[in-house]
Amino acid sequence: MLIDSHCHIDSPEFVGELPRIFSEMEKNNVKGALTVCCALREFPRCLSFSKSHKNIWCSVGVHPSTDDDISEATIGELVALSTDEKVVGIGECGLDYYYNSEPLDWQRERFALHIQAARKANLPVIVHSRDANEDTMRILQDNHAEECRFVLHCFCGDQKMAQVALEMGGYISFSGIVTFKNAVDIQSVASSIPLERILVETDCPYLAPVPFRGKRNDPSKVIYVAKKIAELRSISLEEVEEATTENFFRLFSKARYEG
Ligand SMILES: [Zn+2]
Ligand SMILES: [Zn+2]
Repeated sequence: MLIDSHCHIDSPEFVGELPRIFSEMEKNNVKGALTVCCALREFPRCLSFSKSHKNIWCSVGVHPSTDDDISEATIGELVALSTDEKVVGIGECGLDYYYNSEPLDWQRERFALHIQAARKANLPVIVHSRDANEDTMRILQDNHAEECRFVLHCFCGDQKMAQVALEMGGYISFSGIVTFKNAVDIQSVASSIPLERILVETDCPYLAPVPFRGKRNDPSKVIYVAKKIAELRSISLEEVEEATTENFFRLFSKARYEG
């Protein structure tokens, strides 16, 4: 079975399509998903979605590109909001230098604060990093993210970044990008790092994998990410399913699977 380790299935744009999506997930053996919070104002929706669906878990955190005042969180708030049994991680948080430009001290401070909250809550950090490889890894190191563990979600980094993450005990999650023809560097990371550190995700509604590129994404399509990784590593889809699901529950150890 497969778990979509990072999606935004609680997003209002999926309302009305959920029965179809859940039945396609079942068909593709996708048995669970982590729906990730990007802003504090969205957290109540994220949490209630996860509480009303079996094997859907959620997180709490503020995306680096979220810029509304209400979403600036304190460590105490993040820790308090993470106590529900369905909240299994802190994030997504991190650095996004693609959509935002300097000065970005506020992004770096927000990221550090999330790592500190995760250590306090004893939950893993869900890391978003775009065009910010070195700063991301430096902030993870400076704030001892190895203590609470972390995943580099929607991995777009290079071998060097992957190596630093692995040495810190981190996990690497691949999205539909790994299926894109021009994603040669990401494919080379996906084929060479230890299988027991790999997660798969859709990050839906964005980034649909080939053969759905450009169309709307949903958690059932995580199977195409897993298939690509199997192909790149010359192993079976079943092996990728088994390993990535085991990895998901090892990292997000608070997530309880209901059979
Ligand atoms: Zn992200
Ligand atoms: Zn996301």
